[in-house]
Amino acid sequence: MDTLPAPVEKKRLPDYDTTEWTDVALADSSIALDLKYATTDNFVETQLYECPRCLLRPEVAKALIKAHRELKAKGYGFKMFDCYRPRPIQWKLWEKVPDRRYVADPRKGSMHNRGAAVDLTLTDSAGLELDMGTPFDFFGKKAYHAYLDLPEEVLKRRALLKTTMERHGFQSTKTEWWHYAYIRKNYALSDFVWDCP
Ligand SMILES: [Zn+2]
Repeated sequence: MDTLPAPVEKKRLPDYDTTEWTDVALADSSIALDLKYATTDNFVETQLYECPRCLLRPEVAKALIKAHRELKAKGYGFKMFDCYRPRPIQWKLWEKVPDRRYVADPRKGSMHNRGAAVDLTLTDSAGLELDMGTPFDFFGKKAYHAYLDLPEEVLKRRALLKTTMERHGFQSTKTEWWHYAYIRKNYALSDFVWDCP
């Protein structure tokens, strides 16, 4: 008589090369995702990702998770707006806005196209997004790190995000408080596009 197979615990298995990529949500589910390019709530008002996934190079994901856990102990958390951006998506973005002031030329690519940059903000311990002075992808001086005409608590949050990220190998950019690039390792541009359920 056949015996019934033991129930198999359902676990999502990685559907990508784990030596190349880490899915941040699978590695630490307490990091919130709000990937704007998987919605129409972005500056080109077009959904560019079929589904929201935050993939990063393994060392980059590891550093991000370390930074997140450090902030978690202080009552904060991360919410991701963008992570790895496949180069075919960069081409779509470039076709919409062929202007180097706003979009990286896909031929040259950006740190996002290498899986080494993140766009993120801070949340409180309940996962609620905190005021950082401007929304994500706000083009203007108010999003600059040097812009100081902001409420004290906003400046403190920007500084907390910046010092924490820098401690873990990320570099800020002058004009966008939400953008950080991992600079401890170099990665190639990538055309890999993740699967969707
Ligand atoms: Zn960015």
